[in-house]
Amino acid sequence: MSTQTSIVVVEDEEHLAQGLIFNLEAEGYRVHHEADGEAALQWLLAGTEPVDAIILDVMLPSRDGFSIVQELRAAQNYVPVLMLTARGRPEDILQGFDAGVDDYLNKPFDLSILLARLKGLLRRMHWHRAGTPAEEKLEPEPQIPSDSFTFANRTIDFAALELRAPGKTIHLTLMEADLLRHLVQHAGRIVSRKEILEQVWRVHEDTDTRAIDNFIVRLRRYLEDNPSQPVHLLTVRGVGYRFLPDGAGPQS
Ligand code: CA
Repeated sequence: MSTQTSIVVVEDEEHLAQGLIFNLEAEGYRVHHEADGEAALQWLLAGTEPVDAIILDVMLPSRDGFSIVQELRAAQNYVPVLMLTARGRPEDILQGFDAGVDDYLNKPFDLSILLARLKGLLRRMHWHRAGTPAEEKLEPEPQIPSDSFTFANRTIDFAALELRAPGKTIHLTLMEADLLRHLVQHAGRIVSRKEILEQVWRVHEDTDTRAIDNFIVRLRRYLEDNPSQPVHLLTVRGVGYRFLPDGAGPQS
């Protein structure tokens, strides 16, 4: 295990990038900087150096942050991404999550908050990977179930960030793993959209709930034999969702 955590900063505003680099290095991180979207993607895809996390601006020359994350995930690169958005529009945040972003921060931000979010991201990765909470506690951690959860011929392996189903293995993003863990921990009861946003993803905004529904549709493709007739991840109209490991009759 490398002793120095490696962070990539993709940011085209020079003064902001220099401030980030200075402070991240002061915190003991190794930092690589890219200012151009396409160049950043190519550098990341080349895999020249190990990367522990990416701080990624949305608006960049030649290629935006959403498309960088999409391309990385399509190439099965799952390094955690903290996205910096100047827009702060909930649809954009959810679009980022849908693209495979793991956390976001609105510009302008306090440096202390960025560092806390980055630590949170690295800790969540460690948490899923190790199956145990990291020693550092910035906020209370929920109870942690065992490293894996098996139901209906499927196994969610939180340590490997994988969902294994007959004939296929699906890689889970941190967002997906966090939500699945929450659903497993609260199996059988209704989980509201507000709870998902505030407790699972820490998004404290009024958000277009259709964006969450899109995320759930994707999860159903992993969890259900017939995603259009779900029996495990049910929609509770107007409220949220309910996860039933043992299944239920098809929703009408
Ligand atoms: Ca920018």
